[in-house]
Amino acid sequence: MDFTRGGCDFCSDCVAVCEPEALLRPSKEAVPWSHKASILDSCLSLNGVMCRSCGDACDKRAIRFSLQVGGKAQPVIDRDRCVGCGTCLSVCLAKAVEISNNYTRDETA
Ligand code: SF4
Ligand code: SF4
Repeated sequence: MDFTRGGCDFCSDCVAVCEPEALLRPSKEAVPWSHKASILDSCLSLNGVMCRSCGDACDKRAIRFSLQVGGKAQPVIDRDRCVGCGTCLSVCLAKAVEISNNYTRDETA
């Protein structure tokens, strides 16, 4: 998955067209994977630059911003809401979003 090109809406079209049948999804209701978003230290907002692009792009409302002293705001991922779609990664100019099942920062709200 190359989320720099856009997020995944889990439509399952890739499963349907993959001729080697390398992909499997039992049903559209099945959770596609356990990957979630994490915010890395290069985040603009964490470094005092106003940015809310990831939060604005998240349809699941899984990103909120926690105000810090000094005008900084920390993006906080609600991992109960996050489905790992990668849309937030695709809009982040600072390449500060990671999608993985190896969470680098405990941001659970
Ligand atoms: S889009 Fe990137 S730089 Fe902006 S707040 Fe989100 S993680 Fe930080
Ligand atoms: S990966 Fe998670 S936080 Fe990012 S846009 Fe998708 S649901 Fe929202």
